Amino acid sequence: MSLIVHKYGGTSMGSTERIRLVAKRVAKWARAGHQIVVVPSAMSGETNRLLGLAKELAPAKESVAYQRELDMLASTGEQASSALLAVALQAEGMPSVSYAGWQVAIKTNSAFTKARIESIDDKRIKADLDAGKVVIVTGFQGVDPDGNITTLGRGGSDTSAVAVAAALNAAECLIYTDVDGVYTTDPRVEPNARRMPRVSFEEMLEMASLGSKVLQIRSVEFAGKYKVPLRVLSSFTPWDINIDEEAKSGTLITFEEEGGSAMEAAVVSGIAFNRDEAKISILGVPDKPGIAYQILGAVSDANIEVDMIIQNLSKDGKTDFSFTVHRNDYARVTDLLKSKVLPSLGVTAADLMGDAKICKVSIVGIGMRSHVGVASKMFRSLSEEGINIQMISTSEIKTSVVIDEKYMELAVRSLHKAFDLEA
Ligand code: ADP
Ligand code: ASP
Ligand code: MG
Repeated sequence: MSLIVHKYGGTSMGSTERIRLVAKRVAKWARAGHQIVVVPSAMSGETNRLLGLAKELAPAKESVAYQRELDMLASTGEQASSALLAVALQAEGMPSVSYAGWQVAIKTNSAFTKARIESIDDKRIKADLDAGKVVIVTGFQGVDPDGNITTLGRGGSDTSAVAVAAALNAAECLIYTDVDGVYTTDPRVEPNARRMPRVSFEEMLEMASLGSKVLQIRSVEFAGKYKVPLRVLSSFTPWDINIDEEAKSGTLITFEEEGGSAMEAAVVSGIAFNRDEAKISILGVPDKPGIAYQILGAVSDANIEVDMIIQNLSKDGKTDFSFTVHRNDYARVTDLLKSKVLPSLGVTAADLMGDAKICKVSIVGIGMRSHVGVASKMFRSLSEEGINIQMISTSEIKTSVVIDEKYMELAVRSLHKAFDLEA
């Protein structure tokens, strides 16, 4: 008998029929003698629908008061799906109980819409498990020190599940979704993508941070920190599939480098992409000490994260400075630069250029550490397709480029081919 956490995403919970199938699968695991905690997402589309309603009434605002209400609102999606799953389990003859984040309690900080989990109380869950119930805990939400409901950022149910698994010291956390594992790239963009039976924690962390939305990055961080055995698998297999077969399916996130040295590992294991960024450039900035700080300090003081940065060679004492931010922050950053930064740099609004139609494409692989020429192979492959590279950034195990958004699919497919990732 093991304690196992199951997480079901929005598509897996997308209708009463799908919820019934989830209940049958969960009941199968419980009847096999396991203690099961389930962390569901809201039914697919529900979080967007709810947030859309708020926008109809008032445009998005940065104010704490507004953000608080977004969390109050969006968290109801998971509350509904959790209760529905409990009802479906009871209909299967399986005792079950559902809890909202604050009832457990899942304690977070007060950063509404992007809160971080600080602690989870396991008492209530353990007591119910010991009483023979399946326990359902809402994904995506928690409660702050003042008793306000918080949410963990889009895709946050993955993080709830891994955090619950860590708090309960679960034997495994199974992330059930609409694909049967982690692929070399998003199979919706490259149909020849290949499922990886295992992927290293480091590569998964990099893929998630570079845009592969199959796991929310915070969930991978938690899995690493607390060494939670984590598997991504499909909820679309027949619910009554043999349980041992199911337990070995999908993709396992591994913590040791297995299968020999990194020399033997695939040089590039996956390709990630991200359409959520925008590029901002300031032209003709005086090239003198303190310029980067003057620009980016103001951005960071406004609590806006900067990703890639590039400063050109100076000519006649002037340089061009570019950086990327999340698209949601794009308008705020340009307003901020226009009002506070440009005048002190001695440049005008005409020198400020923005481009929200970009995307970042990245190759990821721990094998890159011990191989040279990987980045140049990437650049050659893109140039053969006539794709212009606007920015580059590298680390030990990844190379990212910013390109025009319209070439995203072409870039992903040609890199997938160039690095022999095809099925
Ligand atoms: P859920 O609702 O179950 O949380 P998500 O939509 O958040 O599901 O994540 C699953 C989706 O992630 C898949 O449908 C797939 O399109 C996308 N995806 C992106 N990159 C990858 C990848 N490398 N491997 C598998 N799926 C990926
Ligand atoms: N329902 C939330 C979202 O759509 C959380 C999740 O699905 O993981 O982002
Ligand atoms: Mg998700």
